[in-house]
Parts: sequence; structure tokens; C-alpha cells
Amino acid sequence: MATCEVCGNDYWMAFEVRTVSGDVHTFDCFECAAHKLAPICEHCNVKILGHGVEVAGRFFCCAHCARHEETQGAEIRDAVGSRPA
Ligand SMILES: [Zn+2]
Ligand SMILES: [Zn+2]
Repeated sequence: MATCEVCGNDYWMAFEVRTVSGDVHTFDCFECAAHKLAPICEHCNVKILGHGVEVAGRFFCCAHCARHEETQGAEIRDAVGSRPA
């Protein structure tokens, strides 16, 4: 048994998520995991649950939001495969 670090539910199917920094978090459901770990779009403030878009280390839910906040159109790309410098 493990306890969700967001809501405190003690659940037999709780799972762990290891982040890029090596931290390990325990959650009872994906909603709690997203609440704690999902980045937030800097334009519309939604939780980014998909790949999202990264521009110079800033995260957005989609290219539309990124274009509202950033002028580097050529740098707007899917966050998959890109890595902040
Ligand atoms: Zn929870
Ligand atoms: Zn957005």
C-alpha cells in the first residue's frame, strides 16, 4: 500500500513517477499526478498533459499559445525531441 502525496488516499494500486531530476513521486491516480507534475501553459494556464510546445525553456500547450507569447516563430516546435539549452 502507498499513499498519494497529493490527496492522501492510501490505495493498493498507487504508482510511482520518476522525473527527469531523479525525484520519485507516489500517486493514486493520473489526475493527482498531473496536478503535481504537469507543466502549465504560460499563455492560457491549462495543464499540459500532452507533448506541449517548448520555446527557449518556456512551455505552452500548443503552437497557437506559443505564438501569442513568443516572437521566435522558427523556434516553436513540439517539445518531444527538444531540450532546453
Ligand atoms: Zn491522489
Ligand atoms: Zn495554452
